Amino acid sequence: MAKVLIENLVKTYPEKNGPGVPAVKGINLTIEDREFMVLVGPSGCGKSTTLRMIAGLEEITSGTISIDGKVVNSELPKDRDIAMVFQNYALYPHMSVYENMAFGLKLRKFPKAEIEARVREAAALLGLEGYLERKPKALSGGQRQRVAVGRAIVRKPKVFLFDEPLSNLDAKMRVSTRTEISKLHARLGATMIYVTHDQVEAMTMGDRICVMRDGDIMQVAEPLTLYNRP
Ligand code: ADP
Ligand code: ADP
Repeated sequence: MAKVLIENLVKTYPEKNGPGVPAVKGINLTIEDREFMVLVGPSGCGKSTTLRMIAGLEEITSGTISIDGKVVNSELPKDRDIAMVFQNYALYPHMSVYENMAFGLKLRKFPKAEIEARVREAAALLGLEGYLERKPKALSGGQRQRVAVGRAIVRKPKVFLFDEPLSNLDAKMRVSTRTEISKLHARLGATMIYVTHDQVEAMTMGDRICVMRDGDIMQVAEPLTLYNRP
């Protein structure tokens, strides 16, 4: 079970000699257990800030975020049952694919055998079995993003966060990776929150779509019942 509840969430970035930048203006949103929720809207509307607050990477100005009824506002990122996949992959260049995927588990002191089993399972799921020894620079963009997804999967988190994961890929890779992420959602049965500015991604991937503008939520609806294209 992993229901994410966002209540009156506000983020105002501090600003020198100013009132601050209002990035998120008191939003309320419920993401149901196992739901694939897409946050969509133009650049600067507050999607990424919202996601980073859920991950614990950005301090909350006010409001609460709860997971399964427990307020996580003051929990460190590493203590949240959440994994995030970034736009730029954020892989360690000096580590192999195996080490990149294993790193988070090592940090959390998982036994070696368990780490290896989980890395192999994720690699098989993502078609990366043949690439475990390679360094990221010897991979294509699509493969790098799969490693980044693999690094999230091995933690077996209840909640996955994706911040524009396809935006550095070419058109063809975008379509295939999009399909893979949707399949993973079905297969893992996890709650996923996915940020994009791309309407097609939003419409094809989301169980529901949350449309944001200027730090507010305009509407939340299933793709076919949106009253206007995002
Ligand atoms: P999106 O992900 O929808 O593109 P962001 O959440 O990145 O939007 O940004 C929302 C608003 O907050 C924008 O006006 C942006 O300029 C501002 N912002 C984002 N990060 C910072 C920061 N670290 N400092 C100040 N302002 C920021
Ligand atoms: P150490 O912590 O001693 O540096 P590693 O994390 O490199 O050890 O490796 C731990 C175990 O994970 C190894 O014994 C091996 O079974 C497995 N392993 C490490 N790297 C790879 C790899 N590239 N491919 C497959 N298995 C690996």
